Amino acid sequence: MNKDCLNVYSILRAFLKDREGVTPIHIPIFDNRECELLRECVESNFVSSVGKFCERFEQELVNFTGAKRAILTVNGTSALHLSLILGAIKQDDEVLLPSFTFVATANAVRYIGAVPHFVDIQDQTLGIDIDKLSQWLESTTESRNGEIWNKSTGRRIRCVVPMHTFGHSVDMDALNTIATRFGLVVIEDAAESLGSRYKDRHTGNDSLCAAISFNGNKIITTGGGGAILTNDDDLADRAMHLSTTAKISHSWEMRHDAVGYNYRMPALNAAVGCAQLEKLPDFIAKKRALAERYQAAFAGVEGVRFLCEPQWATSNYWLNTLVFEDTSGVDQRSFIELANSEGIMTRPAWRPLHMQSPFADCPKMDLSTTESMARRVVNIPSSASL
Ligand SMILES: *Cc1c(COP(=O)(O)O)cnc(C)c1O
Repeated sequence: MNKDCLNVYSILRAFLKDREGVTPIHIPIFDNRECELLRECVESNFVSSVGKFCERFEQELVNFTGAKRAILTVNGTSALHLSLILGAIKQDDEVLLPSFTFVATANAVRYIGAVPHFVDIQDQTLGIDIDKLSQWLESTTESRNGEIWNKSTGRRIRCVVPMHTFGHSVDMDALNTIATRFGLVVIEDAAESLGSRYKDRHTGNDSLCAAISFNGNKIITTGGGGAILTNDDDLADRAMHLSTTAKISHSWEMRHDAVGYNYRMPALNAAVGCAQLEKLPDFIAKKRALAERYQAAFAGVEGVRFLCEPQWATSNYWLNTLVFEDTSGVDQRSFIELANSEGIMTRPAWRPLHMQSPFADCPKMDLSTTESMARRVVNIPSSASL
């Protein structure tokens, strides 16, 4: 490993000096409150999707995010899947999304028979590069009756899915300008950005609907879980209906008016969610304070930059991130191996999806920043308890 890398590592180790044993990337925090609400849920006997905890968690999410409606799901992936269905994205449509994301974003597109079309990211935010996307659409698509078609694949391009990487919001006003110009539906993958704001509003409020995740490694967790946020009542009602097997409400008759899904979060998980959401403001404050300390520790250090929130955003700093400068000496893998061998858990971000076998044949633009960032980004310990 070169001198700069070793220096960066010694700063990270000194930063975490008082920690014994292994320092994970991100751990959940529970106390008696989760146990208390879980017990209340068990004792009520309503442990599945009927019962007060689902509605209560939804209402509290609405209060927290400012979205008009929240609909719980079994995980973030199912929230994305339903969102695409509700956005009327059809089989063989192309959906624009970053290659630099968790595999769930692209999987959900495949579930409806649509085709992921990978777009590049910006190196300052790790979110979609909007100017590059605009130029790409201008030069490679043609417009027919207000819809755009990919000139090389002959398919309709219908939707764009921005992802707020590690909690840092995409510039949604700029993205929406492009989306309007090209007739695209916008669905936010806000799985990582609960508690992050874009300008004066919570992420997820600048699109048709947004998917969030409560997986064990996210900023709050329900074990597994997700939610759709939307400001459209109609869409929320359909999300609720489709996520509960499309059953027509009736006290004893079993009638269904569509092929629905069994996607509703159980009340047991929602009970944990209610307890976690009470702590979220405290988690965010602690994570922002941790990020500020990291930023100070790495300020002016040769060869590396700490990833800061963009000027339009207030980030939850879900995962703190170092970006190595693009010099030939960068050795991300040795850095990660050394850190992990000494109990400091670090990891690269995802292997870009266009480089993974299920998605290798998908349409894509030049992805040079994605590929460069995949070699230079390292996530470092980020738990609120640090
Ligand atoms: C976590 C995550 C998801 C999906 O979440 P699950 O709840 O694990 O299904 C989707 N997209 C991104 C970017 C994520 O980080």
